[in-house]
Amino acid sequence: MGYAHSLSRPLRLDADLFAQWSADCQWIVAYARTLGVKLAGPDGSGRPVTSMTQVLFNGRERCRHQRAQRPDPAANRPRWCGGRCAHDSFSVELEYDPYSLWERSRDGSYLDRFTTAHKPYDVAVTACLLMLSHRFGPTISVTSDGGASQWHDGRHLALLACGVFPPLPRSLTRSSAA
Ligand SMILES: [Zn+2]
Repeated sequence: MGYAHSLSRPLRLDADLFAQWSADCQWIVAYARTLGVKLAGPDGSGRPVTSMTQVLFNGRERCRHQRAQRPDPAANRPRWCGGRCAHDSFSVELEYDPYSLWERSRDGSYLDRFTTAHKPYDVAVTACLLMLSHRFGPTISVTSDGGASQWHDGRHLALLACGVFPPLPRSLTRSSAA
């Protein structure tokens, strides 16, 4: 449980498109850091990974933010870490590694779920998912516990880092219209 985003994808993604997307993520990670978002490798330490075969990062475990630092109640669901910027790692691989047949849906796609708890690194996760959707189109689909307003910052981060203002995933435009 917890605030999360889901990705439905085929077993293998196109290698050329993946390389382009991994470069997008490299820009996003770099730009997010200049904005003060504390990013790390999958376990919350070390460096984020953006290679030809995988994109893998998390928030920083030892972020030195204060636990008592409360979000501004006037802001729209601000990202607050509670003293620990790390949560579940964001991990997308060129070839999915299914450890259970249950992960395969009837249409042959595989489901990944990324629980960010809406911590600060969530802005980088949403930007990367938006660029994934932009690159791969209907080959993949993204859904989220958040609505359109929770994806606003990620869209702008993608614009600043990659020069693309990606559209919202269809599932989110539907939920915000309802
Ligand atoms: Zn923090």
